[in-house]
Amino acid sequence: MMNRNEFHCRCCGACCRIKDGIVRVSDAEISRIAAYLGMNEGEFIANETELAPDRKGLVLKSRADGACVYLDDNNLCRLNPVKPDKCRSFPFEWTNPDSNAICPELASAGV
Ligand code: SF4
Ligand code: SF4
Repeated sequence: MMNRNEFHCRCCGACCRIKDGIVRVSDAEISRIAAYLGMNEGEFIANETELAPDRKGLVLKSRADGACVYLDDNNLCRLNPVKPDKCRSFPFEWTNPDSNAICPELASAGV
């Protein structure tokens, strides 16, 4: 895994556009994101999440092209202060073959 001090994100947003990538959200994450967006939890769950492919929990919705709905036009995360742990911990606590293939900074580091 990458050291936080050595990794310099290029803010390209590619990791938020991984086709078939999913971002699971826990109950605590749903609470904090809904509060940040000024929505109640039921409204957030109904409108902003969908059932995970394995039917075990919820994931953030994706656009038709696979990008996360919270990625803005400048490749920034609209949930940045409260973004899910899966996003916050990448690529320091996890990567996978899909992410290694698309992240230019991981590629340049030979990951
Ligand atoms: S929540 Fe933010 S960081 Fe996570 S995939 Fe969506 S846009 Fe990217
Ligand atoms: S793909 Fe890599 S360089 Fe691009 S935003 Fe994600 S972590 Fe940063």
